[in-house]
Amino acid sequence: MVTVQTQTKFCKYCAEKIPVDAVICTSCGRQVEELKSNNINPNIVIHNNNTNSNVNTFATGKPKNKWLSIILCLLFGWLGAHRFYEGKIVTGIIYFFTMGLMGIGILVDLILLLFKPNPYYV
Ligand SMILES: [Zn+2]
Repeated sequence: MVTVQTQTKFCKYCAEKIPVDAVICTSCGRQVEELKSNNINPNIVIHNNNTNSNVNTFATGKPKNKWLSIILCLLFGWLGAHRFYEGKIVTGIIYFFTMGLMGIGILVDLILLLFKPNPYYV
């Protein structure tokens, strides 16, 4: 009586029947399974202390009051006041020295400001 005492599998290299728990093929000697010690993976506990609130200040910008900008533009637009308020220092200085691009800049900014939501973001 021949009884199958151990379960067998086929070696993926030489296709010989080998014991199911064999790590090394009993026929060709090649490694057919990962070593058992490799299966005992250390429990990697990732302590995620990432506290980034992910606030993208570039996408939303800083909120600016529409009506304050319009008032600044009307009263002190020739000084570039509304430009400085928006943090646009360079154009603010240009407005300062050109009296709001000879008033054209003030007019354009005033129209643009009127169509902006309140608050708007720069
Ligand atoms: Zn083999």
